[in-house]
Amino acid sequence: MTQTGPEILACPWPASGSDRRRAGRGLLSVVIPCHNEEEVIAATHARLAAVLPATGMDFEIVYVDDGSRDGTLRGLEAIAAHDPRAVVIELARNFGQQAAMSAGLAAARGDAIVITDADLQDPPEVIPEMVRRWREGVDVAYGRRRHRDGETAFKLVTASLFHRLFASLIPYPMPVDTGDFKLIDRAVADAVNALPEKRRYLRSLVPWAGFRHEPVWYDRHARVAGTTKYSPWKLLKLAGDALVLSSDAPVRLTWVAAAGLGGIGIVSGSVALVGQLTAAAPQPGVSLAAVTAVVATVAAVQTAAVAIVGEYVVRAYREAQGRPTWVVRRTLGRERATTGSSRAA
Ligand code: UDP
Ligand code: MG
Repeated sequence: MTQTGPEILACPWPASGSDRRRAGRGLLSVVIPCHNEEEVIAATHARLAAVLPATGMDFEIVYVDDGSRDGTLRGLEAIAAHDPRAVVIELARNFGQQAAMSAGLAAARGDAIVITDADLQDPPEVIPEMVRRWREGVDVAYGRRRHRDGETAFKLVTASLFHRLFASLIPYPMPVDTGDFKLIDRAVADAVNALPEKRRYLRSLVPWAGFRHEPVWYDRHARVAGTTKYSPWKLLKLAGDALVLSSDAPVRLTWVAAAGLGGIGIVSGSVALVGQLTAAAPQPGVSLAAVTAVVATVAAVQTAAVAIVGEYVVRAYREAQGRPTWVVRRTLGRERATTGSSRAA
């Protein structure tokens, strides 16, 4: 996809004024990425099929099999054979959870779309409350965790610290203590689907789009069966990816290092100079302060050069990412606002 200039991503219909939305009618999609989830998938479908009628909406459940090597795909085929509301997308190999969720989001046809995991850690019983908030005009009703069962203390502490650090480093509001479990309005899904970037971290792309976000508090349970698909190493890689995709802060840190080294250079140089000027007789040799001043100043200049190159690289990267310059939530007073396409230049 090529972009010739800034693009406007317009809502297909006014986000909060629609009768259809206020009445909560229309179609609800539930997107579920699945990787080696044969132990849980039947239970997950049964729970969703029991709970979703309470939303009062028609629904489809979009399962994305992300290159499972166990019986997940067979299980999903059996579900689809008996339930026409199930849609199964089989990816050609394991592309990772972010890719699987993105594939499901692109295929979902709902007026509102819920993203959730396959393992019932996020209770489907919360979905009707999310739909209620959506009816009231909230565009992103995100699950915010009160408690998390079945996680190690290490994971709880590192996740909490990372969420807070991440939120402080990215240039738009980012909710904390939340994962992928959320309901998003069709307009938000259109905005996210239209982004041309290939590497995706949906937890920050949805907040990037803007719109109205509200938490729905819930308790996160332990997995019903099976084990986590994330080793600490895989989590660390995901965290690094998330940061670089969404924030220029790592490059800005280089400036902080350059300024620190420059400060050491100035202070050491001053100490060396004052030492020479106040000495009764000229000091023989080179003082430690003078050596420190030279080394720190050279290091500061080099680090600043790296930071300048970093500024160009990060700008080139953001341009290559190709995100639009703005996203429109709604337009009043024009035909296009009520009938418009999801993408207009
Ligand atoms: N998942 C996936 N592809 C992967 C890894 C995980 O689709 O490569 C799915 C997995 O089946 C589950 C969700 O992503 O539905 C979250 O994974 P998991 O429950 O293992 O993560 P945790 O809850 O332990 O962080
Ligand atoms: Mg899980």
